[in-house]
Formats: sequence, structure tokens, C-alpha cells
Amino acid sequence: METLDGVVVVGGGPVGLLTALKLGKAGIRVVVLEAESGVSPSPRAVAYMPPTAAALDRFGLLDDIRKRAVWCPDFAYRHGNGELIAKMDWSVLAQDTQYPYMLLLGQNHVSNIIAQHLRELPNVEIRWNHRVEEVDQDDAYVTIQTSSPGGTSRLRARWLAATDGARSTVRQKVGLTFDGNTWAERLVATNVFYDFSLHGYSRANFVHDPVDWAVVVQLDKTGLWRVCYGEDASLSDAEVRQRLPERFKRLLPGAPTPDQYRVDHLNPYRVHQRCAAEFRRGRVILAGDAAHATNPMGGLGLSGGVLDAEHLAEALIAVIKNGASTKTLDEYSIDRRKVFLEFTSPTATANFTWMKESDPGQRARDVAMFEHAGTDRSVMRQFLLDFEKLNGRRVIERKLLAA
Ligand SMILES: Cc1cc2nc3c(=O)[nH]c(=O)nc-3n(C[C@H](O)[C@H](O)[C@H](O)COP(=O)(O)OP(=O)(O)OC[C@H]3O[C@@H](n4cnc5c(N)ncnc54)[C@H](O)[C@@H]3O)c2cc1C
Repeated sequence: METLDGVVVVGGGPVGLLTALKLGKAGIRVVVLEAESGVSPSPRAVAYMPPTAAALDRFGLLDDIRKRAVWCPDFAYRHGNGELIAKMDWSVLAQDTQYPYMLLLGQNHVSNIIAQHLRELPNVEIRWNHRVEEVDQDDAYVTIQTSSPGGTSRLRARWLAATDGARSTVRQKVGLTFDGNTWAERLVATNVFYDFSLHGYSRANFVHDPVDWAVVVQLDKTGLWRVCYGEDASLSDAEVRQRLPERFKRLLPGAPTPDQYRVDHLNPYRVHQRCAAEFRRGRVILAGDAAHATNPMGGLGLSGGVLDAEHLAEALIAVIKNGASTKTLDEYSIDRRKVFLEFTSPTATANFTWMKESDPGQRARDVAMFEHAGTDRSVMRQFLLDFEKLNGRRVIERKLLAA
């Protein structure tokens, strides 16, 4: 059996690749095991808030990501008919953060940029087409059984970072539950060629409507946009596709017919609010969607995962290279779980509830709350401070809070 004096990362999604990058830069030997043959192109995360941009900068990735991403100086809240409720202007925060903007880029492009950086590290290896099937551990090692086109193989390592997504095999194998609930609706993520800017849309838009709620975001400079909307969970994938022209006629400004747009990708998802019972079980530590799953309203899913990756890699580096106590890993587990349960999940739940609010009285109060909010520095500052909570214990170190 192969023995690795280092860390096995299970799952080559963005969180796994980021964890590998930070560990690799610290000189630790890392093997990433990924079930698929390459980075997944499915339409998922796209929006990254200021604390995520700051974290990506600390990973040394921000310059490359900014070259490719759509830079987003503001975002809009809209009614179902497209009418503007409020525009939230990041630039009023120019004195409060180095990152007064949102970045828009498909997570597959972000993963490809990370993979490119990993190629420069000889101590990090990505094994595509390697699906982890079994995980076992003792006091000294964690042993992983993998299937690949070459057959079944076994590998043991000192530590395992489980970043294999919401359906994590590793989480199940170590016996950790994934507690919480699943939303009744299905989320349909589409990438579509249609020029929303001709209809006055901002680069990022949150559409507030009991039926036709949606997130509309510009994906690149070629005219590709993301439209994410809700469907009844009882519909099959074929029925979701069949209903698309009817839904787009209502959701897209200008009520276009199918010959006026081109759908590039469509993926229906189930959405959850779930969290693993612990983020550490012995030599196995969870991060990203393997540790917690949230609905994506507000762009908190991967954003939380990016910060998990940073904290987890820092904790492992402290243990492996600096002889820190393994309690450092427990602290990681407690802190990141608290961030999810006390900030990420309640905030994303409130965002989703707000988007599809059906009570007219509550909707009117919500709309009134946003009037003038987007240009008010103190409101935007509070918004930013809330997002800073994603950093967990790091938040107390932030200059912003002391100001
Ligand atoms: C429609 C949609 C929109 C979203 N928008 C946003 C957004 O704007 N901003 C944001 O922050 N978040 C957003 N999210 C959430 C974001 O996509 C996830 O949080 C993110 O993908 C989590 O990354 P991850 O690396 O933890 O997991 P994943 O991206 O799920 O990666 C897990 C990897 O593990 C691999 N794997 C699985 N099982 C095994 C196994 N047994 N062996 C080996 N490999 C395995 C998988 O193939 C996959 O590559 C969105 C999600 C959806 C669905």
C-alpha cells in the first residue's frame, strides 16, 4: 500500500483545490483524489463578496481571477416585473475595505485558475478519475480505498481533508450525520445568452417575487448571463426543460420568445440547509459543502468554503510543520461550524425567504427598508460587517471592527 507523509484531499472542487494550494505552498506533500476526469462545468457559484475577494487575495489568486471575472460595483434588488427596488453601491465603502466590489465568475473558471497554480507545486498531485469508496483510520493513519480506471487501490496518509461536496462519501464513512432540512423548491440554474444590460439590469440582480423570484447575474463579457429561478420539486428534469420558454417569458425583461435567447446550460438542484454534526473525526477533517450546505441566495456557499479551506490549511500547517496540538483542528471544527450555524445558514435562509415573500404587507415593509439603503454608507458598512462574520474568529482581528 502507498504511504503518504502528508495530506490526502478528497474532492477536487474549489474548496479541495484551495486547501491543496495553501498546504502545497507550505511545502506539505498533498494528493488530491477527484472522482471526475476534470473540473466540473456545471453552473454553480458565480458571485464572490468582499471577504471572499480578500481571502482569494491571501491565496495569491485574486489578480488572475480579476483578469477573468466580471467586476461588479453594485447590485440591484428588483420586483418581478423588473422594476428597480434599490441599487446597492459597493463604492460607498471605498474607505472601509480594499475590496469594495463583488466579483462574478463561474466556479469552474475559478477552479481552473487554482489548478493552474497547483501545477507549479511539485509536491501537489491531482489524481483525476479517482473515486474514494472506503475510509478507515487508526491512531497513526487514515486509509483510503479508491477506484479508478486502473482498478482499486489503497493509500494511507496522516490526514484527510474531506472536500467531496454535499453528498460526501467520506462524511458518511466516518459516521457523521448531516442535519438540517431540504427546501421544497428546486433551484434551476441556467446559463443563457441574453443581453439584460439593454433592459437596464445591473451586473447582479436579486428579483423579489412570490413566484418569479430569480437571481440574474452577468457571467462574462460574451453576453452570457446566469438566471437562477425556482420550480416545483415534483417536476422531472424533462418537465423543467419543457416549461423553460414559459418561465423565461415572465422572468426575462422584454418577455422574449425562444429565438431571442440561447440556453447554454441548465441544471436543476435540490437546496438544503444542513450541517455536519462535527467537522473533525480523528484524522479526517471536513470543509466546504461536505461540512455544510446552504441555499445560494447571497452567495454564501462557496464563500464560506473558501474561508474553511484557508482555516483548515492553516490548522494543518500548524500541526504538521510547527508541532501545534491537534486541538488546533478541534478549534477549526468548532469555529467554522459556529460560523455556519450562527451566520451563514440564518442569513441565507432570510435571503431566500425575502426573495419569495408572498405576504403583501411584509413585501411592502421589505421594499421600504431598502429605499435609499444602497447609497447610505452606514447601511452598506453594516452589510459588509455582516459578511465579515464569514471569517469566524478572524473577524476580531479585522481593522474594520476597531474603526
Ligand atoms: C445554482 C447554484 C449557485 C450557487 N451560487 C453560489 C454563489 O454565487 N456564491 C457562492 O459562494 N456559492 C454558490 N453556490 C454554492 C457553491 O457552488 C458550493 O458551495 C461549492 O461548489 C462548494 O465547493 P466544494 O469544493 O466544497 O464542493 P463541490 O464543488 O461539490 O466539489 C466536490 C468535489 O468532490 C468530488 N467528489 C465527490 N465525491 C467524491 C468521491 N467519493 N471521491 C472523489 N471525489 C469526489 C466531486 O466530483 C466534486 O468535484 C451555488 C450553488 C448552486 C447549486
